[in-house]
Amino acid sequence: MEFTYLARPARVVFGAGSLRHLEREVLALGANRALVLCTPEQRALAQSIAQRLGERAAGLYDRATMHVPIEVARDAQAFAQSCDADCAIAVGGGSTIGLGKAIALESALPILAIPTTYAGSEMTPIYGVTEDGIKRTGTDSRVLPRTVIYDPELTLTLPVELSVTSGINAIAHAAEGLYANDANPVMALIAEDGIRALARGLPGVRRDGADLGARSEALYGAWLCAMVLGNVGMSLHHKLCHTLGGSFNLPHAQTHTVILPHALAYNAAHAPEAMRRIERAIGTDDAARGLYDLAHENGAPVALKSLGMREADLDRAADIAVANPYWNPRPIERPALRALLQDAFDGVPPRRH
Ligand code: NAD
Repeated sequence: MEFTYLARPARVVFGAGSLRHLEREVLALGANRALVLCTPEQRALAQSIAQRLGERAAGLYDRATMHVPIEVARDAQAFAQSCDADCAIAVGGGSTIGLGKAIALESALPILAIPTTYAGSEMTPIYGVTEDGIKRTGTDSRVLPRTVIYDPELTLTLPVELSVTSGINAIAHAAEGLYANDANPVMALIAEDGIRALARGLPGVRRDGADLGARSEALYGAWLCAMVLGNVGMSLHHKLCHTLGGSFNLPHAQTHTVILPHALAYNAAHAPEAMRRIERAIGTDDAARGLYDLAHENGAPVALKSLGMREADLDRAADIAVANPYWNPRPIERPALRALLQDAFDGVPPRRH
């Protein structure tokens, strides 16, 4: 056994109602003037957070949007300076946390993240900024949020369908982390338990979006899966999702949900131990099929055609995915990849090509 393990230095405060510790956590960062970031849709939540902080709230910026357009990042950065902020609080999903990261990259302002989806950006040093339609991504330890408050109560408003797809988006991080070329045994433990918690939590969320126990389980699983994303490399599944999201503008969480079973079927024979862990975590004897069923049974989309993908674009998607591939346990073979994309387009159960 040989591996390198890096512990990322985030402080995590978890639990229903943990938002009450916000002021304490801002002070623990050595900060006193927090800029609150959000999307327009989550302005009311951000306002309540600013109110909670009182005079320690330096301002509120509500224009976070998908893929962090460079103009928005610059505007937010200028706003942070104009209100003399000494930390930024990103409350929301990956889009809002992404904006916080873009600010941190330029200014080194410490970020306190309060995730309200299961996407997992808060645990990674990966940032992305979009300029002239092209998303530039990179890794920089300065963008890693210093503190994360996970409060399941804030996820109660996440629509049930988005909760299921966002949860499977999280599972995808852990699943690919299990067969990463830099995988390690600590991350494998975390990945397996993350998948287990989400596979238990999501059906409860689907039955009752206000079930705080299920919400807590799902958010806990999302944290574990996010740690995996932040610590080891991703493979074919993430490459396909970045291609489909970046070049064909498909929705993030839903695309992950549709692709994951097919990517796992593609890799299964080359990553048997990873499959065993996933199977144990979700209680099935076929990891790919088990995740397809988890999505289907919980009302999530299983076909790219239902997400707005055009069949005529599948060839181009395969070409893009084959160019500059990420490391993958099974070599990338274009014909098999094209067949995988067809299955995902049609929404049929996953099979090996
Ligand atoms: P998102 O942040 O775009 O949120 C989707 C919508 O849901 C937004 O309108 C948001 O305001 C709303 N929303 C979020 N939480 C809510 C809640 N609890 N209640 C009601 N509405 C809520 O979606 P996402 O899936 O969290 O993030 C996707 C983005 O994050 C993508 O751009 C992706 O590339 C990025 N991402 C980056 C990393 C990384 O490591 N850098 C990791 C994961 C995702």
